[in-house]
Amino acid sequence: MQASAFHKLLLLLPVAFFEIANGAGDWTYLSNGKDWGHLCSTGKLQSPISLDIKTAVKKAIPRVWFGHHTQELSRPLIIKNNGHTIHLDIPMTIKGRQPYIAGGRLSGRYHAVGLHIHWGSKNSAGSEHSLKRFRYDAEVHIVCYSEKYKDIMEAVQHKGGIAVAAIFLAADKTGRTHIHGLSKIVDASARTPIYESNATIPGSYSLKDMIGNANLEQFYSYDGSLTTPDCRESVIWNVFSKAVLVSFDGFARLWKLRDHSGNRLINNFRTVQALNNRTVYYRIKR
Ligand SMILES: [Zn+2]
Repeated sequence: MQASAFHKLLLLLPVAFFEIANGAGDWTYLSNGKDWGHLCSTGKLQSPISLDIKTAVKKAIPRVWFGHHTQELSRPLIIKNNGHTIHLDIPMTIKGRQPYIAGGRLSGRYHAVGLHIHWGSKNSAGSEHSLKRFRYDAEVHIVCYSEKYKDIMEAVQHKGGIAVAAIFLAADKTGRTHIHGLSKIVDASARTPIYESNATIPGSYSLKDMIGNANLEQFYSYDGSLTTPDCRESVIWNVFSKAVLVSFDGFARLWKLRDHSGNRLINNFRTVQALNNRTVYYRIKR
């Protein structure tokens, strides 16, 4: 149920919106989102943004934590090239639990239901959020929805209905380091070269295998939006400030993917948005 609802949100809803608004079939990253309409251009709580430790409000809030994330996920684990990214529906664990995130500025649990990546190209970095002007090589998004709602489709209609855990990735050219599960996702992307192709990830993994030893202690948190059309402003962002290292070879695989028009799927990040009157928090320990 969650898987199908998630696909509706990511695929049907943006397409339907653009068909109504623009008469066009689909949206692209060719202008990094500058050509997206409706709320994407008129909204005041948009994402991503440039994060700045100097101007962020330092606040002693609980750390963000994951739950059920060490339990093995049910198989098969399937990634899909949806024309915008490679996407993994996070299934329940083999014990029938949905992994979740909680803590930080979140109230209650948020079911973790989707994972995807934003990346650059051979010559450019591609994280969505930036630290002042610095852009990391890539950014993983773990998309979660509040347990207060029956599914992600309902949650996205409410402010704070969605929470995203964002983890920066930095390319490691030494080839020594990698996040085991995430590397498997990136490796499997070699088998999803074109739009709507999918691949099964061999082996058994937990959500923790996908995020490795990401430092969950230090993060920014602010109220923002989906970074894809229709840019709904229902997201509590949790952006971890320390990047994790991923093998450089993996990134090269991502640059070979193609979108729905057959164009190279590179630089699939949205340009940074105005902060307007929002407060960005940076978590400090009590
Ligand atoms: Zn994303």
